[in-house]
Amino acid sequence: MILDDISKEIKQANSIVILTHVEPDGDAIGSSLAMYNGLKKIGKDVDVIIQSFSKAFEFLPGAGQIKNESNKMYDLAIALDCGDIKRLSGFKEYFENTKCKIEIDHHEMNSMFADYNFVNPTAPACCQILIYVLKTLGIEIDKTIGTCLLTGIITDTGGFKYSGVTAETFEFAAELLSKGVNVSDIYKRVLQTQTKAKFELSKRAMSRLEFFSNEKIAFTYITKKDEEEVKSSNGDHEGIVEIGRDIENVEISIFLRETDDGYKISLRSNEYANVSDICLMFNGGGHIRAAGGFSSLPFEETKNRIIEECKKHLK
Ligand code: 5GP
Ligand code: MN
Repeated sequence: MILDDISKEIKQANSIVILTHVEPDGDAIGSSLAMYNGLKKIGKDVDVIIQSFSKAFEFLPGAGQIKNESNKMYDLAIALDCGDIKRLSGFKEYFENTKCKIEIDHHEMNSMFADYNFVNPTAPACCQILIYVLKTLGIEIDKTIGTCLLTGIITDTGGFKYSGVTAETFEFAAELLSKGVNVSDIYKRVLQTQTKAKFELSKRAMSRLEFFSNEKIAFTYITKKDEEEVKSSNGDHEGIVEIGRDIENVEISIFLRETDDGYKISLRSNEYANVSDICLMFNGGGHIRAAGGFSSLPFEETKNRIIEECKKHLK
């Protein structure tokens, strides 16, 4: 069993590096810190390397120990919540330079880039998979680890509301609650409270929202200038794509975010469109109902191309 092999490799290794995808969301940070706290508990020399992350996640146990670089050589590298090695971004080298590589993930689109790939696309969050991994390692899930795990589950399920939620998700949540994890505090911090800058960006995106194809496609965007003007920081654009998704009759919501080299694309769908397939056309991927990609074409061309691709997936 792959899980036994992973457990054996982790037990054998002394120094371990944990990596996750760029622009980490709650599941990326939650899994990284759950693994970090778990491995510390069994005496491993472990580092989490993440360049930058939203301050909403600073409350997580171990967040203060996250490094943004390292020149150490590790025995083992673990990539979490990342379906594509390119998404490890500047940290790809840490992964590639390590002798033994493990990937634990739940993305539909996955390039199986490690020596051991434990991938379950039916899990609604990478954190849900980690519950099994940590148990196999004999690590007791305490309040500290549970807080990290529940953060990933809550953010990747939109607060237990997406279709990927399983009976197990609630069973795990109940188990974590019994360990003293404060669900309402996590929920408030990661899903409810937003920065003023995020609110201002959302307002701009909302006022620009356009509909296409009988209002089945919603489109909006933000520019670098917007982000400068509202003084946005890491993570402030997260969730804007959901504004269009949550309007009745919309099947696909498109959100473009201007960056230094082009446009980051975010797609969401409601009932049937496989947006991960659409993102393949834009060097990206993700899940069936939530995916991303990139375009280095100018704004109008990017907009037209993505809308045309989305139209092909409407019924
Ligand atoms: P978001 O729209 O929130 O950035 O991303 C939605 C989902 O798609 C996340 O699970 C994210 O990891 C994945 N995703 C976003 N951008 C990319 C990309 O460029 N490549 C791949 N493979 N996945 C992506
Ligand atoms: Mn995830």
